[in-house]
Order: sequence, then C-alpha cells, then structure tokens
Amino acid sequence: MSKCAWVTLTTNDAYSLGAMVLAHSLKRVGTVHDLVVMITPTVSEAMRSRLRDVFDLVQEVNVLDSKDAANLAILARPELGITFTKLHCWKLVQYQKCVFLDSDTLVIQNSDELMEREELSAAPEVCWPDCFNSGVFVYRPNEATFNSIIEFAAKNGSFDGGDQGILNSYFSQWAHTDISKHLPYTYNTAAFAVYSYLPAFKEFKNKIKILHFAGKMKPWLLNFNSETKVAQIPPMFTHAGDFIQLWWNIFCDNVHQKLSDQMLPHAEYFFQEEAGLAGALAQVRLGEPRSTEQEAYEASMRRQCWEVGNIDYTGRDSFDNIWKKITETLETKPDGKSADDENASITSITPPEIEIKQTATKLLTSNLPTPSPAKSTTITTNKQAPQPPARQRSKKSK
Ligand code: UDP
Ligand code: MN
Repeated sequence: MSKCAWVTLTTNDAYSLGAMVLAHSLKRVGTVHDLVVMITPTVSEAMRSRLRDVFDLVQEVNVLDSKDAANLAILARPELGITFTKLHCWKLVQYQKCVFLDSDTLVIQNSDELMEREELSAAPEVCWPDCFNSGVFVYRPNEATFNSIIEFAAKNGSFDGGDQGILNSYFSQWAHTDISKHLPYTYNTAAFAVYSYLPAFKEFKNKIKILHFAGKMKPWLLNFNSETKVAQIPPMFTHAGDFIQLWWNIFCDNVHQKLSDQMLPHAEYFFQEEAGLAGALAQVRLGEPRSTEQEAYEASMRRQCWEVGNIDYTGRDSFDNIWKKITETLETKPDGKSADDENASITSITPPEIEIKQTATKLLTSNLPTPSPAKSTTITTNKQAPQPPARQRSKKSK
C-alpha cells in the first residue's frame, strides 16, 4: 500500500490543542496511516515537543523565509499568508496520498478509506454546495502542483480571502465533473447548528465520520468544568453535545497530562489571547476541587466564551448573577463608598453613568419580579445571533 498521511496545520498553541485532540481521535479509531502536523514558528517549543509525541512528523513551514520565486510572488500579497501556509501540505512529497484535516475537526469513525479517493476530493460547503469545504480534502503531494497553485493564487487571489476560495477556483472542475470526488457530507459534517439541517443531523448522526467545528466557537473555547470534566454545551451545539464531550474526554485522557509547566513561559499571555490557553490549561487539575488559580483560569475562559458569543447562562453568567454584578457596580463608587452616600456629588458623575444609575434605580425599586428563564434566554439569544458562515470570515481576523 502506498504511503499515506493525515495532515493538519497549527500556527499557535491554541489550535495545537485542536491538533493534539484530532491526532488522538485518529489513533482512537485505529488509523494505519501516518499523522503529520505542519507548524509555523509561532508555535511554542514546549508545544512542539508535545506534538512530536503524538505526530509521526512535525513539519515546520515558514512562509517568510522561503526563497523560491513562487513564494516571493505570494509575499506581494501578505493577506494570503495563512492560506499559503495550508498549501504547504502539497510539499509533503514523501507521501503518495494525504488527507488534509483542519485542526478543528474530530475523527469519530475510522475513515482510512478516504486515502483511496483521488485529488481533489472534498465534501460540499454547506453554505454554497457548488463549492467544497476545505476543512477536509484528499490530495496528492506534488511540488509541481504546489508551485502551480501558488502561482495561481498570486495571480488571482482568493475570492473569500482564505484557502477555500483559492482551492475552489483552482480545482473549479470539482463542482461538475467527477462525482467520486464529492465526499459524503459525513466526512466533513458541520457541528454548529447554523450550518446544520437538524433533522438530518439527528437521522444520520451515527454515520458521521468526521465532525468539523467550523466557525468561531471552537471546542477549546467552550466552558468546561475541570472538577466534573463535563463541557457545558451551548444551545447552538445541543445536537452535537456528545461530540463536544468526546473532544473534552480525549483532551482529559490524552492531552491534558502532556501539557506541563514547561508551557509556563507562555504565562505572559495567559488570559489575553487564545495563544495562552494551552499554558493556562496546563495549570488546571482535573477532577479536583478548584484552586484559586483554577478559578481565575475559569473566569478568564468564561470571558473568552462571552466574547465568542457563548454564555454560561445557567451558571455564573446567569441573569441573576449579571444583575447582581450590575447593581453592585452601580452602587459602589470607585473609592469603595456606596453611591447612596454620594448623592451630593452626583454632578461629578458623567452623564451616561447618571442615566444608567437612574434606569437601574427605577428598575430596582419597581418591584422587579424574580428573573424568569425567559430573560436568560433573551440575553443568550441576543448574544448568540447567527455568525456569518465560517469561510466568509476573514482569516486575517484570526
Ligand atoms: N489555523 C491555524 N491558526 C489560525 C487559524 C487557522 O492554525 O490562527 C489553521 C487550523 O488548522 C484551522 C484551519 O487553519 O483548523 C482553518 O481555520 P479554521 O478552522 O479556524 O476555519 P473555519 O473552519 O472555522 O472556517
Ligand atoms: Mn475549520
């Protein structure tokens, strides 16, 4: 049998968490093929060594240091940087056939048969089924193809600013020629409800082979209770709740213990950006009552979850708690005195604060009924307005 590999990409430590869980999901279903991860210099040394434990090959790719003509051409278009990185998968010529998997995918069932498909095989993009989704695709590594795609990209750009636009333009015959290159949707099923046909998801759920967490809400950004090891499933993911729990189970069983204090050098960006997540997760003790550090970590996770529109609305971010926090904040002046003590100095408060305070006071004194679940739902619904399709989001924003 020819030499085949599963290939993924990660440009930072947070996506590396996805890559590690993905690799273990492939091992869990007993793949016989190699596992390859392409990394950029922005992946920490500590993370690289963890990736080396589970992947057969950790291949560093560096767009900016490349000296060949095709790479220089793409450098004139810096917005294609991330895209260009993914295309490096065509350079893994030690393999005859590969399947590229986004690091936000999870292999649920053995899919080794994909290696029997031809280049370029992929599943339809849910939002535009005449295009394929580039989170999962079968290809043949080949330097000439790589150069040709890069040349094409440099000349034509990408209609969506990402790799999916380029690949769909380059392999434009995919839409209307060989049906064997159309992978069943079960090889790249979108997890997020906005992209899902829910009755079909339920009907064919047990046929799903590869699940794709396309969109802003990645599993590693969802609320997770380290003590109970249970992930909190947001409403938009209810149908895929057991797959999200599977992601976290694999994380707990196979990945967490590999994260170590060596990731502490990343402490400087703890809680500030996704890149600090891996280091922060290394501090968490699973299955144990939370320490102060753990609580701080979970508070920061909740903030990140808020920011991607995923609210812990039945727990710490419930209507009751939010309301309590608002009133506490409004009733306490920065110097610690209560607002009631400070009525005389109200003119020193800026107009918007006065307005908020008056509105809050009015609401607080008008015999407000106990907040009903409907109120929580309203907040959640507002915050979780459907996102634009994943592939329409600019890769630059990541
Ligand atoms: N990726 C990465 N770092 C980033 C953004 C993306 O390594 O900052 C890689 C990763 O493999 C990811 C893929 O590029 O799975 C495509 O991005 P993403 O999955 O976020 O796009 P979506 O599927 O949500 O459109
Ligand atoms: Mn993806």
